[in-house]
Amino acid sequence: MIAVLCGGVGAARFLGALSHVVDPSDTVGIVNTADDTVLHGLAICPDLDTVTYTLANAIDPDRGWGLSDESWRAMEALQRYADVRPQRSVAAPTWFNLGDRDLATHFYRTARLGEGATLSEVTAEICAAWQVRQRLVPMSDQRVSTVVTLADGGDVSFQEYFVKLHHGVPVTAVRFVGASEATLAPGVEGILKSAECIVIAPSNPIVSIGPIRALAEVDPILAARRSSVVAISPIIGGAALKGPADRMLNELGHESSVVGVARLYSPVAATLVIDPVDAHLAPAVEDAGMRAVITPSVMSSPEIGAELARVSLLAASVQ
Ligand code: GDP
Ligand code: CA
Repeated sequence: MIAVLCGGVGAARFLGALSHVVDPSDTVGIVNTADDTVLHGLAICPDLDTVTYTLANAIDPDRGWGLSDESWRAMEALQRYADVRPQRSVAAPTWFNLGDRDLATHFYRTARLGEGATLSEVTAEICAAWQVRQRLVPMSDQRVSTVVTLADGGDVSFQEYFVKLHHGVPVTAVRFVGASEATLAPGVEGILKSAECIVIAPSNPIVSIGPIRALAEVDPILAARRSSVVAISPIIGGAALKGPADRMLNELGHESSVVGVARLYSPVAATLVIDPVDAHLAPAVEDAGMRAVITPSVMSSPEIGAELARVSLLAASVQ
């Protein structure tokens, strides 16, 4: 079994690529839930949904989130209430778009959680409904929430930073509220210990992989088997392909490069997969304590993705 630590888009693509190389039913994605939020009283799990919809071939390919063939009637109708909302109310938020078909997922998840089901159970049900062959598990069944401190003062939730503020403002700190009390979801400790190898997907190291690593059990388990842990750099040529990973690394005092990524991951992973554009930094990655493996890592075609997956597994000496 192959375990993959997952954020959203980069991880979803990597899991898809992996299915060309190993039996998907032998793959477990352990997914960040610290981006999760409640809006309209609905439990929304952006990273789980991005991975699920991608693996079900139902993601909107242009947006990279939400479902393809989507309509937005409910959001449009909400504006009527946003117009009369009292000043202190947060009802009828319209800054976070939820498509009509996507809403069904949040309805179902919220109703099942309300009946007492755990997030792990509901996630398995949603995956079954979408006929996802990989196993997806939330990192924890308990609530962990990313809180972002803005440079101009004040704390906001991750989705306020990411969506409402378009991740366009500098940050000075990130913390994961609830992480010190939360435990791994049932079965995840066993998966991390028994997997043939663990891949850290090309996801945001701070806000996607960071929350998983903030759970007390994770880093010691990874460190104890570091030679079979491989990470794929989400930073290519000093930049993120999409999203704030590069700026966040800089703003929080790290380097936005494969070397900065290597410094973060070297305690828990022996190998970093980097793109040929960063080949000149391989010696610096090694100085930071990780073996550098160079292969094209922008998953712009199924062939490149499959080769990236094959090379990554080989690097963790599975094949
Ligand atoms: P989010 O939760 O949807 O924001 O997505 P992730 O946590 O998975 O992080 C997005 C990161 O994935 C960005 O830093 C991207 O640079 C990285 N990423 C997305 N697609 C690819 C890809 O094809 N290859 C690599 N190496 N990184 C990618
Ligand atoms: Ca995310």
